[in-house]
Amino acid sequence: MDTLLIPDLMLIGTQIEAGQAVLVRDDRIAAVGEAHELTRLHPAARRTVLSHELLVAGGINGHNHSFQILMRGLGEDDDFFSWRSQVLYPVSERLRTADIRDGALLAFADMLESGITTVADFFYLNDQGIEQALAVVAAARTVGIRLVLARAFYDWEGAPARYRETPAEALRNVRALHAAVGDDPQVTVQVAPHSPHGASPAMIEAAVQASYDLGVPLHIHCAEGRYEREQCLQQYGLTPVALLNRHGALSAQTVLVHAVWVDDRDLDVIAQSGAAVIHNPSSNMILGDGIAPVPGMLARQIAVGLGTDGGCTNDRSSLFDEMRTAALLQKVAAEDGRALDAERAWLMGCEGGARALHIPAGAVAAGRLADLVSLDLDDWSLLPGPPTIRHLVYALSPRAVRRVFVGGKEVVRGGRAVFGEAPDLKARSRSWRAPR
Ligand SMILES: [Zn+2]
Repeated sequence: MDTLLIPDLMLIGTQIEAGQAVLVRDDRIAAVGEAHELTRLHPAARRTVLSHELLVAGGINGHNHSFQILMRGLGEDDDFFSWRSQVLYPVSERLRTADIRDGALLAFADMLESGITTVADFFYLNDQGIEQALAVVAAARTVGIRLVLARAFYDWEGAPARYRETPAEALRNVRALHAAVGDDPQVTVQVAPHSPHGASPAMIEAAVQASYDLGVPLHIHCAEGRYEREQCLQQYGLTPVALLNRHGALSAQTVLVHAVWVDDRDLDVIAQSGAAVIHNPSSNMILGDGIAPVPGMLARQIAVGLGTDGGCTNDRSSLFDEMRTAALLQKVAAEDGRALDAERAWLMGCEGGARALHIPAGAVAAGRLADLVSLDLDDWSLLPGPPTIRHLVYALSPRAVRRVFVGGKEVVRGGRAVFGEAPDLKARSRSWRAPR
């Protein structure tokens, strides 16, 4: 059945317009146009009036590790290596399937209520199988968020045993996971060799093969910290980007996460390959990684999306926050208030992320998935009006999120995720302790 969503205001591109409506058919936006015209053309459609609401595209969280939300509050104020050895590795080694599922439920619910409709979950607690990843998939289906499960390929011997596999095991398992998830518009699988430091060249090549065989994107951390660039240069005489290129891992199907330590030549190589970048400004700032050269990426027409990264290196779950932080960070880096404007920050968080992840969402436009967020026009953070794109990127509080639709289905109502398990999950989470 068709549904007409009729808000007071709607963000189309980067312009906020009055008198517009969206026609939702199945899980897609069938039409966008004048409300009175769509009402006349589709008299049988169910009408949902979004009174005092501004309808926008849902945020695309291009990179996250959902289980890391269980370490929220434990990992701050350390450098990457101390955080990894003292928090990430010991806690993640002890998580059971039920913990992994709860972490995903918690992270996904927090994201939905913050206006995120798609998340890429880079998952590496694989235990040489697919059971744990399927727990994350089940959690996404329960909460109602759209999921890209980026299934890790990891063989660095310094990492916990449950992360590690041989290339043959990783290939077998990602194929099994892809088959187990099946043809579900809400969940897709991507192949995710961990990084140039976490996956050997043989592992990266296995992932390239799997990406090609399964016809799915390849998602990889690249050049997050200075150490990785130095290590790659020392070990291979190549930058991380050049190393990936040598192993066939750069193409229009590639999603590079971070790309902080890249030079102009690397950016040219990325642009030529058609690969996309997911920028995680808050996480990069918390870990002291550095500042990704986002203006240089955009100038080369590289698709750039935004990510929150894990819940213990951010520690928020809001893409609106990442838009604001991305813009502010570039202004500081360039000592120039024009370095990255609100329009570009917004488009990275929606269109750019959707393009990077190969998901037909990220805009209020006919043919896209009906992944939409309505904002309360009476929220203090949107006043005084009329609101502009600058209100959305710089002022908006996630408190203003009133409803969230994923595939046309209302999964947040009155600002709260509506899945039945939410009260029990909150009760369990209040007293959660890492298992010993
Ligand atoms: Zn990551």
